Amino acid sequence: MDVRPFWLAGRPATGDAELTVTNSHDGRVVGVCSVPTPEQVEEAVAAADAVRKQAAALPLHVRAAALTHVVRRLTERAEEIARLIMEENGKPIFWARGEVGRAISTFQFAAEEARRLNGETVRLDTEAASAGRLAYVSRVPHGPVLAITPFNFPLNLVAHKVAPAIAVGAPIIVKPAPATPLSSLVLGEILAETDLPAGMFSVLPVPNDRASALVEDPRLPVVSFTGSGPVGYAIMDQVPRKHVTLELGGNAAAVVLADADLDWAASRTALFSNYQAGQSCISVQRVIVEEQVSEAFLAKLIPAVEALVTGDPADEKTQVGPLVSVEAAERVESWVKEAVAAGARLLTGGTRDGATVAPTVLADVPRDTKLGCEEVFGPVMTVQTVSGVDEAFAAVNDSRYGLQAGVFTRNLDIAFRANRELEVGGVIIGDVPSYRADQMPYGGVKDSGVGREGVRSAMEDLTYEKVMVLTGL
Ligand code: NAD
Repeated sequence: MDVRPFWLAGRPATGDAELTVTNSHDGRVVGVCSVPTPEQVEEAVAAADAVRKQAAALPLHVRAAALTHVVRRLTERAEEIARLIMEENGKPIFWARGEVGRAISTFQFAAEEARRLNGETVRLDTEAASAGRLAYVSRVPHGPVLAITPFNFPLNLVAHKVAPAIAVGAPIIVKPAPATPLSSLVLGEILAETDLPAGMFSVLPVPNDRASALVEDPRLPVVSFTGSGPVGYAIMDQVPRKHVTLELGGNAAAVVLADADLDWAASRTALFSNYQAGQSCISVQRVIVEEQVSEAFLAKLIPAVEALVTGDPADEKTQVGPLVSVEAAERVESWVKEAVAAGARLLTGGTRDGATVAPTVLADVPRDTKLGCEEVFGPVMTVQTVSGVDEAFAAVNDSRYGLQAGVFTRNLDIAFRANRELEVGGVIIGDVPSYRADQMPYGGVKDSGVGREGVRSAMEDLTYEKVMVLTGL
């Protein structure tokens, strides 16, 4: 099997070791990539630092042209890249194609936003003391970005860091997840076809035990991290003076109120508890349903969960594939067993075959079990019955996480109340918490992270406002 090179300051390179990538469905080796040496990591950082000023001064049309090139090439290579994502991540081909489509949108939005970096003027003559003065406010990149990304969306979550960085004129070094580096290396290949200056980007599949060199390097003032809480907060502790953005996990809740369309709520919660085998930070983990409709809702939910097609991710019909590894599936299985031993009722699922966990629903899960309070990151849903809106919203907030919440209601007053009261970064009315469009602000509160992504929000996050005051006008 050919060894894929990594991307060092815009050029393909090979290092001193190799990383083997396997398909978790059947254990097949699906790719091998080269791993950079510490000297090559240093070279990439030095190149990013060297190009910092040139990158910040890149004309907007050059940035937009590079981003548009990526849109075109991802579109042309969409099927090939979707298959690669399916192989390295294990996600069903249907969802892998969806991820490529979203990455295309992410780059498209960034190309558009890059053309809108106009800055603004602020009139200062609102006070007599400032008569004759005007402020010009522009956004300036903090500097080169270190992007650390997770395995579950190996292309689009890289896109969410690379595209805004190019748009604002910041060099970027991507450290992809070791389980899924292949699609980010194809993105590197596509970026290498653009006119971006050398040093503007590197894709370095560095093992975790070598990542500290990147995290701690003062020439990379921004660390944009997406992944688990323990790793994210350890990085923040490691470099407290850097600009660190953390997009972390959650145990997202969907509230089903009595006025909801129960068919819609059941089909959406069933699907989005299990898509990506539950390995999404906004996967539906907790369903909180109003008492008076709970029986009717469950009567629709359980058949919808049981109808999901589980199996080979390469099969066009598969909706739920394997988890990223057998170990991950074993952990999920053990959490389910712990909850059942503590008194939870298993309504469906609970079985495991290799890396695949059957879509699982439990009720009466004790709050003090792992499933009751932690992020399961697997195809498992807990159902809790509540007396009304007060109890429902309190249950959503009874979590140390706060990424997004969904509320199935048709009542506008309750929608605005949810927006006021739910302690999350995003409230989705009429749908699951798993809804995300790539241009909208996205991120968490509480232990779900710090900072916002979504193309425009990420562009703000990667820059600071700089003001120039003109005097004597
Ligand atoms: P992870 O924390 O294990 O790994 C994330 C990245 O950090 C990987 O690239 C990994 O190699 C790297 N890493 C690990 N140890 C490191 C170290 N010591 N120094 C530097 N880098 C290190 O997470 P994962 O298992 O890949 O992803 C799953 C997690 O990501 C879940 O908790 C999920 O909720 C979260 N997630 C959050 C979002 C979001 O936008 N909020 C999106 C997707 C996933």
